[in-house]
Amino acid sequence: SQPTSPVASDVASRTPPYTRLLKNLRQVRRLFPNRPLTLAEKILFSHLDNAEESLFDNTNNGTDIRGRATLKLKPDRVAMQDASAQMALLQFMSCGLPTTAVPASIHCDHMIVGEQGADTDLPNSIAGNKEVFDFLESAAKRYGIEFWPPGAGIIHQTVLENYAAPGLMMLGTDSHTPNAGGLGCIAIGVGGADAVDALVDAPWELKAPKVKGIRLEGQLSGWASPKDIILHLAGRLTVRGGTGYILEYHGPGVQSLSCTGMATVCNMGAEVGATTSLFPFTESAHGPYLHSTHRGSIAEQAAAIAASPDVHNLLVADEGAEYDGEVVIDLSKLEPHINGPFTPDLSTPLSLFKDAVKANEWPETFGAGLIGSCTNSSYADMTRAESLVRQASAAGLQPKADFFITPGSEQIRATVDRDGTMATFEQNGGVVLANACGPCIGQWSRTDGVANGEANAIFTSYNRNFPGRNDGNRKTMNFLASPELVTAMSYSGRTDFNPMVDSIPLANEQSFKFEPPTGIDLPKAGFAAGNPLFMPSPPTPSADVDVAIDPHSDRLAVLEPFDPFPQGELTEMKVLVRVKGQCTTDTISAAGPWLKYKGHLPNISENTLIGAVSADTGAVNEVADVDGQTYTIPELATKWKGQGQAWIVVAEHNYGEGSAREHAALQPRYLGCRVVLAKSFARIHETNLKKQGVVPLTFVNEEDYDKLAGCDEVSTEGLHEVLQQSGSGAGSVSLRIKQKGSGAEWRIPVRHTLSKDQCGFIVAGSALNLLAKKGRG
Ligand code: SF4
Repeated sequence: SQPTSPVASDVASRTPPYTRLLKNLRQVRRLFPNRPLTLAEKILFSHLDNAEESLFDNTNNGTDIRGRATLKLKPDRVAMQDASAQMALLQFMSCGLPTTAVPASIHCDHMIVGEQGADTDLPNSIAGNKEVFDFLESAAKRYGIEFWPPGAGIIHQTVLENYAAPGLMMLGTDSHTPNAGGLGCIAIGVGGADAVDALVDAPWELKAPKVKGIRLEGQLSGWASPKDIILHLAGRLTVRGGTGYILEYHGPGVQSLSCTGMATVCNMGAEVGATTSLFPFTESAHGPYLHSTHRGSIAEQAAAIAASPDVHNLLVADEGAEYDGEVVIDLSKLEPHINGPFTPDLSTPLSLFKDAVKANEWPETFGAGLIGSCTNSSYADMTRAESLVRQASAAGLQPKADFFITPGSEQIRATVDRDGTMATFEQNGGVVLANACGPCIGQWSRTDGVANGEANAIFTSYNRNFPGRNDGNRKTMNFLASPELVTAMSYSGRTDFNPMVDSIPLANEQSFKFEPPTGIDLPKAGFAAGNPLFMPSPPTPSADVDVAIDPHSDRLAVLEPFDPFPQGELTEMKVLVRVKGQCTTDTISAAGPWLKYKGHLPNISENTLIGAVSADTGAVNEVADVDGQTYTIPELATKWKGQGQAWIVVAEHNYGEGSAREHAALQPRYLGCRVVLAKSFARIHETNLKKQGVVPLTFVNEEDYDKLAGCDEVSTEGLHEVLQQSGSGAGSVSLRIKQKGSGAEWRIPVRHTLSKDQCGFIVAGSALNLLAKKGRG
């Protein structure tokens, strides 16, 4: 019988607001009557808060939008994973609203280990992270957020199965959020403060991305899989090639792909730095997938829009839409690829990999093959891998490498369990891990005796392969490939094995050669609902639920609002550190063991700037107070915070490069930082600073950097007036410096980039303070 759907009753809340989006698109058409639009533009522009203002502000009369205009967007939905949801929710709570403005979901996946198998690992992980999970669940219940408990699945697979829909726009607090682009939506990975914008109904700002066309021709066959499209593309674009772009797939080859295959391709667009990736709606792929995941009504509405002959078609690009560059891939000629080690853009076609192993002296054997994860655990992935296991099993073979399977969700796990695929894996040496991130995010306790620091190889169907990513061992070489290739190679245990041409010797002096894998896109009997314990909580807010934060917790702390800007200038701030050279978000807020404290601002602040080199002393994480006594940077910042002493950071170029990590702005602000004065800023971090109420300023004369030193006193001049007049180019800002010791005084000119909205953040103390004020009316 047809399985009952966990979501059927919620389909309405999961349907994109098509009527409104089409109306908005009509308005955009009026603004650009003769301009064909890309699919990305259609979906983005139909989510603008005010299309005319966004598209004509700061651009050449709306003709030069991409890369120039600042889009103020109203996303439809937010998804958050357990690690990043903590700070997002703490910030949301400080706004004092009773519920979220748009539907949202929380997914407990990152904090679950992969070691012995789901039955043991899941309870252990729940016990180890109980207070965090309790907090997330209680906050979800209070504010009406759907809570997917530990074991329910990985955020991106769950989103694809339940929330992604053609034409939708969503934000996710995870970099692989673009996975949902496989179902024709714009899905963008952001930090918690950005997610809060959407949760409180404030417009979310995005510099209009450029749109790169990826034209697919031909058709995949044999061993080639959707994963190979993106592995190949990553080699062509490199890890920076997608920065500032949306990757928009189009062309006849799109028609031959499954929905989940498209999601795999979009997922790894994050590896080339793309803002997001997306595919157009195709009735052949998306219709059946939406029907089989209990969202038939969305399939029908999308099909009706796609079939509409008028100008409002929201779900495919216009004929003649122009791209900012194009890459063409002929799927008929595409061979499987293997990417790595250590970077996802080191891409080698399978036929050349044997030589690459030799030339680079990579290990000839490997210890583990891992398939699944958010990138590759579709029904097609699992059944194609199964077809290879069955072949090998019939020949009497067992995998030579350890073989792990990570299902992306309870729905997929239960379905492949019901259909016998899981039994095939387990009877042939496979270990099924929890429906969670596990080894993909370093939550993998290896039991195969590889020592930390020992060079070795593994093969995974995951998406990232930076050093230390999987097992914490920076010498582990993670080679990325399709699940079918990882499976076949696990039977050889050799890195130089090519299953398309090579054979595996058998005991009877014969040999075994794989036939190409075969699989099924969607289960004939529909998806199984799985364990009811893994169903989400309903999206109904309950004001009487207390959000569980133990006041003695070392992992969670309620976020107190920051001080507003004073009624005048900022005076007598002290220079905490003059940073020499590169200062990334990792320098400002280190990761690794500190991740545990992501929900506890005071505790994680103990790592603030610990990677920074002081220009005064040349030492890392060492500064001195006025009396000459030396401290670590966070120690001195904490001491000054206790004394009510505001401080500033002085830095060189591209301050805050690296990531959107909001803790790199939150922590200095928490410890008393009011200004960062740099030669230049990384754009996202500069915005994050403003959101947290820290004023980023740049030198007019870069040589002034050399005239400053730790403990010098700094006061602003003109900043108060700029804030009063909401930026708008008003007045100039300068800093009055009083040198430590000599007391000598001088002025230096500086620049600001505060927009009207951002002046509001600074005056209120932070963007959240302003939102909270508005929320209270
Ligand atoms: Fe991120 Fe890996 Fe989890 Fe996917 S499986 S969400 S890539 S940690």
